[in-house]
Amino acid sequence: MKYISTRGDAQPRSFSEILLAGLAPDGGLYLPVSYPQLDAATLERWRGMRYAEVACELLSMYIDDIPPADLRDLVERTYTVEAFGDERITPLQPLDEGVYLEQLSNGPTLAFKDMAMQLLGNLFEYELGRRGETLNVLGATSGDTGSAAEYALRGKRGINVFMLSPAGRMSPFQQAQMFSLLDPNIHNLVVDGVFDDCQDLVKAVSNDLAFKRRHRIGTVNSINWARLLAQVVYYVVGYLQAARRVGDPVSFAVPSGNFGNICAGHVARMMGLPIRRLVLATNENNVLEEFFRTGTYRVRSGAETHETSSPSMDISKASNFERFVYDVVGRDPARTRELFVAGVERERRFSFDEADRAEVERFGIVAGTSTHADRLATIRDTWERFGRVIDTHTADGLYVARRHVEPGVPMIVLETALAAKFSATVVEAIGIEPPRPPRLAGLEALPRRFEALPRDVEALKRLIAARDEPATADVGTR
Ligand SMILES: *Cc1c(COP(=O)(O)O)cnc(C)c1O
Repeated sequence: MKYISTRGDAQPRSFSEILLAGLAPDGGLYLPVSYPQLDAATLERWRGMRYAEVACELLSMYIDDIPPADLRDLVERTYTVEAFGDERITPLQPLDEGVYLEQLSNGPTLAFKDMAMQLLGNLFEYELGRRGETLNVLGATSGDTGSAAEYALRGKRGINVFMLSPAGRMSPFQQAQMFSLLDPNIHNLVVDGVFDDCQDLVKAVSNDLAFKRRHRIGTVNSINWARLLAQVVYYVVGYLQAARRVGDPVSFAVPSGNFGNICAGHVARMMGLPIRRLVLATNENNVLEEFFRTGTYRVRSGAETHETSSPSMDISKASNFERFVYDVVGRDPARTRELFVAGVERERRFSFDEADRAEVERFGIVAGTSTHADRLATIRDTWERFGRVIDTHTADGLYVARRHVEPGVPMIVLETALAAKFSATVVEAIGIEPPRPPRLAGLEALPRRFEALPRDVEALKRLIAARDEPATADVGTR
């Protein structure tokens, strides 16, 4: 399988080549040249398989430059009961008739990002080892992404992680989670500023191409194709659990921010998985809901981006959206470039006409928004009727899902975090502390390791250079 850029200028590349890359050199996103198809016989065969086995089968449709035995070993080491707390890895929990929660948040950091990031950590370590290279992963986080990345990359050979976070802005739980990691390859850098300041520092370093090349700077953000691919697996596994017979339609509801999670659902659907609806749920930051309602995609300014009680969905633009648009416009790279360069990058928007919008309809996505009050009511209702405590993001998903339930079509709501991670709002809704997995008792009392970083690009570069350990001794740092 080869991978091409949505903007058409990049050479087709193999999986291993794009694994460690971010954007394609032309500024587009990588996608496979075509989507392999899942027929009924294949799905039937996968039905009796464990999660890791399905993952292996699916990944090998897209990865042909890692020997099958190595890939199997990587996948089996990733999706274990020890890491995910249940043999089924992503069990479905029924709520009312035909509505299910798919539990994606039982991994190390209690959010669905572990599903992909844990695999990415093993893939990175494998690929770097094979090449005899090292990598410095640089990122900015306001919570979930940073911790998922750190828990996936801690202790990995050849990888350093430099994670910037805004001082005092993450929840106490998230801070404790990240800062209690004492692995020498994890560097928590706390910036006196807001998330955007952290992101600006990361961008400034990445824009220094000489520095980036010399110190082998990489990222693990949600545009990474391997992350997206890993997420396709739980759509298939969720489907196989909920569908009575292979071939029956099932819908998924997805709490959405950067369009990464739901893009994996889109890929599953393009592969022929019988998905009737992909229900896209946003919070008050409704960039995506607005697009599906009006045909206009309009990027927000910082001032227009709300701080909500489902903070991992607080986005001003959706970084994976270009992948979906590329498929909608018939995989036309020139058209995609026009929409995202002349449109999004210059005008901060584009609008689809009637014909384009009719085309969008064919992809099965319906969208809705949810507010703080909706989240509280949904958390309360789910607790009162089912004795189940859900988190604020999952509440956004369930709230919007309820308006799109159809008779005879199972609705699977993706649980993207556990309530324990966002306990303040949960307490506001139901008056009790959400349950926390026993292994995380006393997390806040553990010793912490982090360092203050001034808002200064040069200081950040110095710090990275000082800790960079090239595998080959030919680079004089600084
Ligand atoms: C990251 C995240 C989301 C949004 O996922 P996208 O892939 O960005 O759409 C939703 N909920 C939680 C809890 C998250 O951490």
